[in-house]
Amino acid sequence: MTNFRKFARAGMPAMLLLGIHCWAQANADPKMVPDPKIAAALREISAQRIQANIDKLVSFGTRLTLSAQDSTSIAAGHGIGAAREWIKSKFEEYSRACGGCLDVKTDSFVEQPMDRIPKPTEITNVYALLKGSDPENAKRIVLVTGHYDSRNSDIFDVNGDAPGANDDGSGTAVSLECARVLSKMKFPGTIVFLTVAGEEQGLNGSKHFAKFAKDEGWDLEAVLNNDIVGGDKSPEQDHSVVRVFSEGVPVAASEQDLRRIRGLGGESDSGSRELARYITDVGESYDTGVKPMLIFRLDRYLRGGDHYSFNQQGFSAVRLTEFREDFHHQHQNVRMENGIQYGDLPKFVDFDYVAHVARLNAATLASLAAAPAPPENVHLLTKDLENDSTLTWDASPGGLASGYEVVWRATTSPQWEHSENVGNVTRATMKMSKDNVIFAVRAVDGAGHRSLPVVPTPQR
Ligand SMILES: [Zn+2]
Repeated sequence: MTNFRKFARAGMPAMLLLGIHCWAQANADPKMVPDPKIAAALREISAQRIQANIDKLVSFGTRLTLSAQDSTSIAAGHGIGAAREWIKSKFEEYSRACGGCLDVKTDSFVEQPMDRIPKPTEITNVYALLKGSDPENAKRIVLVTGHYDSRNSDIFDVNGDAPGANDDGSGTAVSLECARVLSKMKFPGTIVFLTVAGEEQGLNGSKHFAKFAKDEGWDLEAVLNNDIVGGDKSPEQDHSVVRVFSEGVPVAASEQDLRRIRGLGGESDSGSRELARYITDVGESYDTGVKPMLIFRLDRYLRGGDHYSFNQQGFSAVRLTEFREDFHHQHQNVRMENGIQYGDLPKFVDFDYVAHVARLNAATLASLAAAPAPPENVHLLTKDLENDSTLTWDASPGGLASGYEVVWRATTSPQWEHSENVGNVTRATMKMSKDNVIFAVRAVDGAGHRSLPVVPTPQR
């Protein structure tokens, strides 16, 4: 619109006004170039396997974090210990199929009594690492997670059934299926497939893991938390979309960060939000069967999730959740009441939908793990009052980048609107005022893989 007005004022004839439309098209943020290998991997994702995995998780009766994990119960296939051992065995099975390409690990700790934990309780996260094939880029990590613990109406009921097919058998199945399919491929960056426990007791597992990642100095670029992605078959469900929640102002922002965010209108440019936008880009470029619906909010009302544990440690993390939740099917004892079936049962899960969400996850993980590292120290020069905007950055480390794109959008726009390939440089001057738009810079490689975009900080 701005350009239309500018040209219209200058008295451009109608023919050229038509040309302006083309100009806008040429500069609109182009779709990601789909990678044929990633597209082929997405087709391997199987709703039948996802169903079998969710049915197996439900078969453990309950996966309450406080439930049994002694060897007898594990042998009997009952309780969270049995679930944990089974998940581990699945990751090991996938690893055998790729010649030991996955490093299968557990992260165990004893949580001391607190609100929803009456006595010291061992909590175990189970994960598999697909180490990056390039030594420099293998330090960069993307992660997918779901929580394998479940609950019913009573958060302390260690024996009663808590099937947790949707919450969060679905998210656990997404981590597993992504591991199975992506482990057949090689990426320069590392992918972690995580399943955590303790979510329902107070995000205990994810808190421990996020802190571990921080303490280990992980360069964790993205966390995808899938929680309730079963596509509950209620009549008002929209099976064509999945909600992607992201924090605005980062919980981990320093006072200095907050001053800058307030001053420059950076409330919608957290790392988590750039990740959410990236997922939209992936959703438009690959045929996953489901479209991301961005929700610019940390989480739903009254609810929380494991992505927040990662946000607290300063990592970019988003939550994926079905469009419409049926609260009769969450955190409920399995029962019939007034003709209504309560309980989180597999019969309410749409396994094709879970497979679609798994494809969106796998495409995002693969795109990021294949992409160059984001550029570093991205700055917008603000020394002088001027109407051009000069951006500078340090080259993407790791040697994968073949060039850079400057992206921008109106300050009121939710998504990146324009993109310009500025070549293999570390400085670019854009013929527009930084006062009117939000800029970012991303790295690209020869095959079109894109890094996450980095919003510049001002430099005087
Ligand atoms: Zn959940």
